[in-house]
Amino acid sequence: MKTKIDLNVHTHHRAGTEERPGSCGIVIFGASGDLAHRKLYPALFDLYYAGHLPENFFVIGFARSVWDDQAFRKQVLETLKEIGKPDPAKQKKFVSHLYYRVADLDDTASFHHLADALKELHQKYKTQGNVMYHLAIPPEACGNVVAQLNRAHLINPPKKGGPWTRIIFEKPFGHDLESARALNHDIHQYLKEEQIYRIDHYLGKETVQNILMFRFANSIFEPIWNRRYIDNIQIMAHETLGVEQRAAYYDHAGVIKDMFQNHILQLLTLCTMEPPIKFNAEQYRDEKTKIFHALRPIPRGKVNDYVVRGQYGPGKLEGKKAIGYRQEKGVAPRSQTDTFVAMKLFIDNWRWQGVPFYLRSGKRMNAHGTEILIQFKQIPHSMFSSVPPDTFASNILCFRIQPDEGISLRIESKQPGPEFSLASLNFNFEYKNVFHTHLMGPYERLLLDCMHGDQTLFIREDQVELSWAFIDKILEGWQKSHAPKFPNYAAGSWGPEAANKLIEQDGRKWRSYVANYSAPTDEHGKKL
Ligand code: NDP
Repeated sequence: MKTKIDLNVHTHHRAGTEERPGSCGIVIFGASGDLAHRKLYPALFDLYYAGHLPENFFVIGFARSVWDDQAFRKQVLETLKEIGKPDPAKQKKFVSHLYYRVADLDDTASFHHLADALKELHQKYKTQGNVMYHLAIPPEACGNVVAQLNRAHLINPPKKGGPWTRIIFEKPFGHDLESARALNHDIHQYLKEEQIYRIDHYLGKETVQNILMFRFANSIFEPIWNRRYIDNIQIMAHETLGVEQRAAYYDHAGVIKDMFQNHILQLLTLCTMEPPIKFNAEQYRDEKTKIFHALRPIPRGKVNDYVVRGQYGPGKLEGKKAIGYRQEKGVAPRSQTDTFVAMKLFIDNWRWQGVPFYLRSGKRMNAHGTEILIQFKQIPHSMFSSVPPDTFASNILCFRIQPDEGISLRIESKQPGPEFSLASLNFNFEYKNVFHTHLMGPYERLLLDCMHGDQTLFIREDQVELSWAFIDKILEGWQKSHAPKFPNYAAGSWGPEAANKLIEQDGRKWRSYVANYSAPTDEHGKKL
């Protein structure tokens, strides 16, 4: 049944921007790669289809594969068809804006060819020299590309009203604090921070942006959003997928770098930051940065008391046999890479002192989903002498980030009947039943923001370094402590037993709405 709601819509417009961004060219480095095909072309087409792209725009694909404009357009059309995008006539119009240049990122001549192509297309499309570069290339190539762009005079210095240059950097930005610092240093030789867009696609998700609206556009939650009323917060990102085609990258990263350094710590900041005075890029990011400063470092000698790591072995998923991580194509047969991490951490400030945050993410888990559970404290006193206060279920607010996007709130209620029996029930809001509209995908949103020059949802230099500093301490601790014997959880389970102990020793439980979002369940699917 569709839910009817009164939508009282107020729009916060970006300062100084019209609805469509101004004319620009877009250059995609790594145009033949996986990310470009799975995310960037579909997102650009969706923006075009919805009328969000600038009136005048062109796209240049740049990679080593030997294609010409026609072959590139054909590839993109095939991608759009494969994923079922609508309106073939519009797709053809869209790809008529696409061009391709064969390039080697180490070859200076390739950048001169790019300069020629840009000059010609800026004239043809009247795009006034504005360019957005998207670096969908191996991360270690990014510093060199920026230097090459500078050498070929392809970076415009920021100037009010002048042609702009903005560069999107994919994750990972560095692979530890030192490399992230070095990359920041290298690119800052040619770029100002206002030209740098470090992407974390989680921040482009509607459900993630809504955390802030939920907290700060409603007056009833903020007074209780603190250590006095909240018992603990759980943030979980579970995947049923394994490493798929990305073993070469993943086996050097593991879940700690792939998920925690970026997505999960970003979700944590959104749940815990103070309200920014104004919703603009700097003030919003200042508040997030304060949380990174307040993260209590995991004590090096006690890392195993706070962090549990795991790696999946063979098991069963969705009724089918599943191989272990070490049997996956491209993974070292004795790999020590973590495919699961659970951790407990604290934020040392007035609001959160003493509140534990339990974070958990893994591959080949029992169910797929990302969710944030805010568990409130139990009632202090029961008015029913036969029912002690700790038998009342505590209130839980759950942000379901994906899938089944929504928010639910568990409350205790009287069960109808002659007795005073209590039942836990869930107020449930589902995006699909309320907003009968296409949820803008994260790449759509973030590409559009970059074209508008809005950095709010991108990661600032200080944040990327502070998050690596936090993760590096854990990695150092791991090097100095006993590694668990891998594999230590079966594909299709909820992770290693030690992860349950981590939370149970505090008298709490992992809870998840992913498997059954009308009520939270424990790791065996039992309602809690
Ligand atoms: P792929 O390996 O699929 O693609 C890499 C692209 O870079 C290809 O187009 C390749 O061109 C090009 N390339 C590599 N070396 C050179 C070179 N020397 N000269 C010119 N072009 C070169 O990688 P992905 O698309 O998976 O990843 C790209 C980036 O996006 C990485 O930073 C990754 O971490 C990030 N990312 C990817 C995600 C994904 O789901 N795929 C998710 C999140 C981030 P060619 O093959 O034609 O030589």
